[in-house]
Amino acid sequence: MLEALLRVTGVTAGYGRIEALHGVDLVVNTSETVCLIGRNGAGKSTLLKTIAGLLRPSAGQILLDGEEITGWPIQRRARSGIALVPEGRRVFEPLSVHDNLLLGGHGQQRQLLAASLDDVYTRFPHLAERRNQIAGTLSGGEQQMLAIGRALMSGPSVILLDEPSLGLAPRAVDEVVHIISAMAGGSAGILVVEQNPQVAFRIAGRGYLLERGAVTTSGPSGSLRVDARVRAAYLGNGL
Ligand code: ATP
Repeated sequence: MLEALLRVTGVTAGYGRIEALHGVDLVVNTSETVCLIGRNGAGKSTLLKTIAGLLRPSAGQILLDGEEITGWPIQRRARSGIALVPEGRRVFEPLSVHDNLLLGGHGQQRQLLAASLDDVYTRFPHLAERRNQIAGTLSGGEQQMLAIGRALMSGPSVILLDEPSLGLAPRAVDEVVHIISAMAGGSAGILVVEQNPQVAFRIAGRGYLLERGAVTTSGPSGSLRVDARVRAAYLGNGL
């Protein structure tokens, strides 16, 4: 059997005495885009933080390419190919687009850095046109594009995207959906957290519903779209 790119097994994690995840199982394969949906407070960000190494699980395992990384510190995980794009499009506002990208490639050899920059500018010509613009003056959608571009600078194999559409105007949401869809099919696997299931199903081929810290259903986006549990979880949210 081909080993999954990312495998989360029985992960329990939280904040001090607050247990936010209770035995979560999840798999992301190479070249796959997977969504994690669920209401506010379901534990979606907590799971991303646990995979990225910001939180240590109290039980369970995390495997990257078959290797257990559960106890690895965040830097080692980042070097091994896990990139987190946190909620809120955190870019370095006073710096230019170019300098933000350079920071994403920090520590890389000069040749590799130049190749990573070329790659990001080729994927996102919009960023190339704005390479000297101060990041804080970009629109919300452009800042999200920059945050994703910065994560790509490290050549990740697993990209964790936390609520990429949050707070964006509908047109910017379309742009972000387009960007993430364009990233798919590369060798990386993408795990995208979305509170908005409509957006999630446009981006991902498969997904998981998280409810109160546990996965209650999973499957292809087409099935989740009509799943009674998903509908119940989002009752009143226009699904
Ligand atoms: P949202 O869409 O609002 O970000 P989420 O599904 O990502 O929701 P989490 O942020 O993972 O949910 O939160 C899961 C649970 O953990 C919630 O009950 C939340 O109150 C709690 N929690 C989150 N961050 C902390 C923290 N730093 N300290 C204590 N509890 C926290």
